[in-house]
Amino acid sequence: MDYNKSIEAFSEAYKFIPGGVDSPVRAFNSVGGTPPFIARGEGAYIYDIDGNRYIDYVQSWGPLIFGHCDKDIEQNVIEAVQKGLSFGAPTLSETELAKEIVELFEGIDKVRFVNSGTEAVMSAIRLARGVTQRDDIVKFTGCYHGHSDSLLVQAGSGLATFGAPSSPGVPKDFTKHTYLAQYNNIESVQKCFDDGEIACVIIEPIAGNMGLVPADESFLRELRALCDKHKALLIFDEVMSGFRASLKGAQGVTNIKPDITTWGKVIGGGMPVGAFGASKKIMAYLSPEGPIYQAGTLSGNPVAMAAGLSALKKLKSNPSIYVSLSKKANTLVAGFEKAAASVGVDMVTNVRGSMFGFFFSKKEVKNFEDAQQNDTKMFATFHSAMLKRGVYLACSSFETGFISTAMSDEDIEYSIKAAYEAMANITK
Ligand SMILES: *Cc1c(COP(=O)(O)O)cnc(C)c1O
Repeated sequence: MDYNKSIEAFSEAYKFIPGGVDSPVRAFNSVGGTPPFIARGEGAYIYDIDGNRYIDYVQSWGPLIFGHCDKDIEQNVIEAVQKGLSFGAPTLSETELAKEIVELFEGIDKVRFVNSGTEAVMSAIRLARGVTQRDDIVKFTGCYHGHSDSLLVQAGSGLATFGAPSSPGVPKDFTKHTYLAQYNNIESVQKCFDDGEIACVIIEPIAGNMGLVPADESFLRELRALCDKHKALLIFDEVMSGFRASLKGAQGVTNIKPDITTWGKVIGGGMPVGAFGASKKIMAYLSPEGPIYQAGTLSGNPVAMAAGLSALKKLKSNPSIYVSLSKKANTLVAGFEKAAASVGVDMVTNVRGSMFGFFFSKKEVKNFEDAQQNDTKMFATFHSAMLKRGVYLACSSFETGFISTAMSDEDIEYSIKAAYEAMANITK
């Protein structure tokens, strides 16, 4: 494989865009090498500007559950584009998409659309704080909820349960309201409730941003009980797991119900859409019905709604796709595991619907601390060996992989074969 055009494009991009990218992970910093510049996608594949083809397990980091250039979504978007890109006035498609979502989820009566997952979460937290009239929130180490100030936190010093900024530019005064707990560890959440006036607990019920690490059912149940006891709200951030882990996301695989849910990624069918939803009672606090302010110039624009509607309608009318998606995901990671075992390398894997994860690790991963034990060097070598063989995996061991309906059994088989070759290479 030849990457000359991408190498040149990257150095040109670097001159005009910080790091050459508009979102840091795209720069390949944790695996090294140059990111291929993508010219186009088709079904299961992407093609870079040097003409190399890859099986795409990233799918724009989750949204493209039907693969690239799905004809139904494309057609719906084209029709919307021809009627005007945005009006900043109510349109029918917003209600239609909101209805599709409300129909699916028990306990969700109303939905508001925004333009990204970050915005959805930021707004959901403001809503929770406004409803409870408390300032403190709990988040889990290793969960990602977008790049808003209150959520860019890392463990503080010593025994403090509240977080310290994880990025310059975030004032300490903002993160002192964010308490950090350990994933799948209820005592650590109890400690936050002991120390703070908690408005809400936000969690990825199936964490996808520390690799794929699902929460235990018993842990979620205890979390629900703790929130109820303290009259705090529970927020499920399903920006990634929504319509991915199952049609109802994590809520289709667990019996625990949140108070507020956030979505992104798949809900926009490839266009920038985020959303949050809750009961009538909670949503009534939002402006203009209630006092909590939240707004957006391009929110619910008809082109983005058209893509989301098309994706959601397709998913709802073919709920069985999740069976075949997870079958493919299981085949893939079982193949990876066998390939690793063939050269004596330890690997642990997870699958939830169309989401898959693998760690170069001996021990089952239950939280971020476990995830950090994975062999990131070995991952980097594996990643580049797979890329050379036309298999495009997420460029960090703390990400999740995705199966699309456009992938064939042959694509999966090919990827497993590539994994055997890559493993043989990395242990040489
Ligand atoms: C991707 C993601 C976000 C942020 O969404 P953006 O659209 O990138 O702003 C928030 N929460 C989770 C769980 C995510 O995976």
